[in-house]
Order: sequence, then structure tokens, then C-alpha cells
Amino acid sequence: MIDHEELVQSIENKREQYVRVSSQIWDYAETCFQEHRSSKALADLLEQEGFRVQRNVAGMETAFVAEAGSGKPVIGFLGEYDALPGLSQKADCVTHTPIQEGGAGHGCCHHILGTGALAAAVALKEYMQRHNLPGTVRYYGCPAEEGGAGKIYLAKAGLFDDADCAITWHPCDDNNIWSMNFMAIQNLRIRFYGVAAHSASQGHLGRNALEATELTGVGSNYLRGHVERDVCINYAVTNAGGPAPNVIQDYAEMVYNIRAYTHKKAVAAAQWVEDIAKGAAMMSRTRVEVLYEGGLSELIPNRTLERIAYEKFLEVGPTPYSQEDLEFCTKIHDTFPAGAEESTCNNLSYLYGKTAQQLIPQIKGKMINDIIYPYTEIPHAKYGSTDVCDVSWFTPTMQVTTACYAKDTPGHSWQQVAQGKRPLCYNGMMTAAKVMALTGAELVVCPEKVQAMREEFHNAMEGRVYECPLPPNAHPGREE
Ligand SMILES: [Zn+2]
Repeated sequence: MIDHEELVQSIENKREQYVRVSSQIWDYAETCFQEHRSSKALADLLEQEGFRVQRNVAGMETAFVAEAGSGKPVIGFLGEYDALPGLSQKADCVTHTPIQEGGAGHGCCHHILGTGALAAAVALKEYMQRHNLPGTVRYYGCPAEEGGAGKIYLAKAGLFDDADCAITWHPCDDNNIWSMNFMAIQNLRIRFYGVAAHSASQGHLGRNALEATELTGVGSNYLRGHVERDVCINYAVTNAGGPAPNVIQDYAEMVYNIRAYTHKKAVAAAQWVEDIAKGAAMMSRTRVEVLYEGGLSELIPNRTLERIAYEKFLEVGPTPYSQEDLEFCTKIHDTFPAGAEESTCNNLSYLYGKTAQQLIPQIKGKMINDIIYPYTEIPHAKYGSTDVCDVSWFTPTMQVTTACYAKDTPGHSWQQVAQGKRPLCYNGMMTAAKVMALTGAELVVCPEKVQAMREEFHNAMEGRVYECPLPPNAHPGREE
């Protein structure tokens, strides 16, 4: 049995410290692989808390691993801390007011994500020390969740190989265990090289790269009718070859995001798009270059671990909030796009099926989600992708969500940044820390649960081989 009260209280005792460091990281707002001050703040704090910290791991300056204790089990916690470009926004403000025009902002609340996971790791370490429990607590400082796939590089470096599990969370507008899957994704960059010429007088000498992108777009739009329903094909023309219609464009470039329920299907669709681009090059007599630039896998869920976390969540309860939180959320809710609540409900119907019919009336019209969603094994995927899924191919992985901002808050929005320093946001972080620490503690005191979780993992992995969704020559960093 775990002393629930003791563990929860030890997290509460350090609330101020966790609020301070997450507020700092919110201020830094560092993007993909630039999280130098944010990762240092977390790594320094872990060191101060008695963890052995290894910085600059897996070829990433802003990645680190912190460890305490020794031996088995090895309980891993994943922390993120990167911000999003273009989302600078004043805190506690209900109008769109950037602090710095074009600056970055914590539009996915990773400032509390990294800190909440840290709080869980610290609490578990202290608890194990006080009770003389064997095992290792390990915190993974994971950079660049947004577009950099930092965790894949950690996985490739073998850093999850001896971990018994990876526990993490995501700030959200609901209290839940993420038991659904996520979309695998492949990112393509396609470049066309043509020949410039005067469009009117020497069109016969020119070869048009812009037209090749158009033909590719047309082809891939037709492709949508010949893939399974979960395959999602989106593209952007990132270089249209210039502003002059009287010059034949000799260069053009497009990027594709191709998502599907599984990595295999995403790759198959991407290969078809590659063929389409080659066809477009033949038609336009241009030269094409297709680059597989990145990708993410789908999740291997671990129901044993999810159920343990759900039990703990019921003990902790949903994120608490004040009247003041409610008033602020009501004000900011007015700025959400029309249909925001309907979209929340539609998502629930899609994910939960019949269960949604009981769930939706409990949250409809509310400004703050105040229930814990019932746990069910959701077989299909949510429309998003995350590098947490790649970790799940190496060790049992689980994600908690807590209500950290107004219900229906659009993801990656200025409204989300604006709520990043609210008491509700910090309460959400503390709630998540408690659920994660209790989950870790349960595993430490019950070796049979570790065994069940590991067994499920081995069964799920039988016959599967991890195919890294990144190209073989990929290295951490932005291409653009
Ligand atoms: Zn995120």
C-alpha cells in the first residue's frame, strides 16, 4: 500500500518551486531545439533535488537524462518544454495581445508539462528514499516535441531500452487518460527543377516547376479517393517559383503531411504521393527530388499502465478550481471560434461512441471541465501525432491529461498561451504530478504490476519491428 496522503502532500509542499520554474519557462518561450534556458532550468532543479544529471544526450544540446536511486524497476517520466513560433501572447489577457510581434509562445503549455513530470519524479524519488524502496527514477528531458521528434533521437540512442515504463501527461481542457491512439505521420518535401524562359515568346524552351507542383496537387487530391478513410493528405506549396507570370518558374517546392493510423500505411501513402510527383515531373519534363524528411509512429497502448493511472486519477480527483478561474474562463471562452464546444462534443462522440451520450451532458455549457472521463480502451486514433508514440515501441508508455485551461480552448492558440500562468493551469500541473507520482509508486511497491505491464508490452510487440519514421540520415535540428 502506498501512503497516498504523504506522497500528495510532498508535491504540494513544493508547489511554489514548481510554479516558479514553469512560469520562467513560459517567459523563455524557446522553440524546437532552442530550449537552452528551459532545459537548464529543469536540469538544474533536478540536480538540486539530488538527481544525477547527464546533459547534452543523444546529440541534442537541449536533451538530458536525470536519475536517482538504483536497480529495478526503472520508472521513467517524460518532460517537454518547447514553445511554438508565432504565438507570443500576454498572460492573463483576454484579447490577442502579443508580447513581441512574431515571437514564440507556449501554445501547447509545455512549460507546465516538463515541470509537472519533474514534480512527479522528485516526489517519487523522495518517497522511495523515505520508505527504502528499491528502484530508479529517471526523468527524460525531451526537446522539440513540436516538429523536431526529439524523443525519437533519445530512443535511437538506446535511452529507453532499460526503462520499465515511460509515464507522461499533457496539459488539456479535460481530465482523462489518453487511451486512444494517435496518427502516424510522414513528412515529404518535393522539389521541382525546371527551365526559366520568357513565358510568351519562348514557352517552348521553358519547363515549368510551378506547374509540376500543381499537377502533383491534383494527383494527390485524386489519391484521397483511393486510400483508406484514416489516411489524411495535406500539402502546402512553400515556394511557387516567384512573383512574375511572364517568367517560367524554374524552381518550386511543396511539403506534404501524410497521416494514417499506422506507420506502414502512412509510408505506403507517401510512396504513392512520391510516384505522383514523379509522374508530374514526366508530364512537365522537369526534374523532381523527393525527400522523406521526418515522421512519427502510432502508439502501442499499454492498458495495464493506463488502468493503474486511472485508479490513481480517481483517488486524486479532477483539477480543482476557484470562482476566479471560472470567471476568467468564461471571459476567454467568448473569444473562441463559433462551434468550439460543438467540436469538443463531436470529438467525444467520435472517440467514445455510446459512452459519449452520458459524457456530453455532464460537460455541456461548462467553462471548466470538472469530471474525470470514464476509462475505456479506445481502439482508433485522435487527429494528431506525437513523438510520445515512438517511445511506446521501446517501453510501456502512458499519457495523463488534466484540465489546465477553459474547456474548448483551441489547441496551439493565443488563448492557450494567455491561460498559461493562471492558477487553474498550475492546479492542472499539480494534479497531473500527483497522478503520475502515485502511478510510479504503485509500480515500485507492486512488482507483479510491473510484470503484468511488461508482459502486455512484450505480447503487443510480438511480430512487430520498429521502423524508425525518420530518414536514415536525419539529425536533430530544423531544416527550414
Ligand atoms: Zn503538446
